[in-house]
Amino acid sequence: MEITERQWRNLSVKLDNIMSELNRVQNRVKTIEQRTQKRGLSFEESIPPHSICFEVLHSEGLNLLENQMKILSDYYGINTMGNFNCDAKVPSGAIACYHPSESNAYYKKGGWGMDVTLHEFFHHLVAQGVVHLNKGQHEEHWANKYAEIVMLRGK
Ligand SMILES: [Zn+2]
Repeated sequence: MEITERQWRNLSVKLDNIMSELNRVQNRVKTIEQRTQKRGLSFEESIPPHSICFEVLHSEGLNLLENQMKILSDYYGINTMGNFNCDAKVPSGAIACYHPSESNAYYKKGGWGMDVTLHEFFHHLVAQGVVHLNKGQHEEHWANKYAEIVMLRGK
């Protein structure tokens, strides 16, 4: 069977329409996903896919930390976590801590590091109801594990 040039052009136009419609639907799904807060995830379910971990660890530029927090928060559909240097807000013996009532993490001088931020961000996930830990699941332990896995997965 032969296809005339005219038929070919018609097919092309139809294919273009299908592709742009598909694109529109994909963007719509992405927007809905970003607006829908993930809830009650187990620890394993809470680990973002490689693409997100990679994006977080390889983003650069001004407001780096803010951008990294935005990527993660958008993925979970939650408000972002603030990060501040403030010795007075961190208990002695710790280098950083998370204040659930403020959704902020505080760092002692020299206490900041991506692993520390990811650890504090895990507390943020628990506080926001994204992650549900069972009784007896030690939050500090899983916060460390979260930081470790995200750092490895994003390499
Ligand atoms: Zn902690």
